[in-house]
Amino acid sequence: MVAMHDVQKWFGDLHVLQDIELEVAPGEVVVVIGPSGSGKSTLCRAINRLEVIQEGTIVVDGKPLPDEGKELAQLRADVGMVFQSFNLFAHKTVLENVTLGPIKVRGLKKADADKRGMELLARVGVDSQAGKLPAQLSGGQQQRVAIARSLAMDPKVMLFDEPTSALDPEMIKEVLDTMVDLAKGGMTMVVVTHEMGFARTAADRVLFMADGRIVEENTPQAFFTNPQTPRAKDFLAKIL
Ligand code: ADP
Ligand code: MG
Repeated sequence: MVAMHDVQKWFGDLHVLQDIELEVAPGEVVVVIGPSGSGKSTLCRAINRLEVIQEGTIVVDGKPLPDEGKELAQLRADVGMVFQSFNLFAHKTVLENVTLGPIKVRGLKKADADKRGMELLARVGVDSQAGKLPAQLSGGQQQRVAIARSLAMDPKVMLFDEPTSALDPEMIKEVLDTMVDLAKGGMTMVVVTHEMGFARTAADRVLFMADGRIVEENTPQAFFTNPQTPRAKDFLAKIL
């Protein structure tokens, strides 16, 4: 579903993605962990072309990333992204947040988009909030709306960049539970998170990044019990 080959990216002199090789199979859940500044967000953002790479290739569902136009809009619909800050449209209702994309980009009729939108809000457990504005919801509820909004575009793959790190502890679980459901439902996912419980429950594979490189790659079981590199050992000692 996603294939990155020999990917290099610089910000000025800073080589932020180095020799990245990554293949994500359909239905696979890959968790990316690593110290702050190691390139995790840039890796995610490169997959839906929010960041442009200088060298290498990225292919999503068999197609190289398009540069612009309709193809780029299609890519952004195919590759859903959920950020730490929920980025909902503040002046639209919860339901409108979910239906806007399908109406504008997918060309759905409003009645159909509303029906599907309510189903998705129910799936993430916030259908009772449909008529409210985002600010009237808790952080956990807002993040679940953001997930529903991505799902409304029928993405082929979902990227999550630290989706729970801005949330109060009691709201983290409700968002992670939603993500576990998605994973169990067969969604292809790339998830940047330090929530080891999620990694253990849902991940097929853990990537450990440091200094712009994927330095270790393993099953969650093997990675957490027996990290191979000093960098990974060090990092796990700090967060566990
Ligand atoms: P992570 O998500 O692992 O914390 P990032 O991908 O955000 O890491 O950042 C990787 C490196 O690139 C960091 O050193 C960061 O400061 C730098 N960086 C990220 N975005 C930009 C940008 N837009 N311009 C310049 N440097 C950036
Ligand atoms: Mg980041």
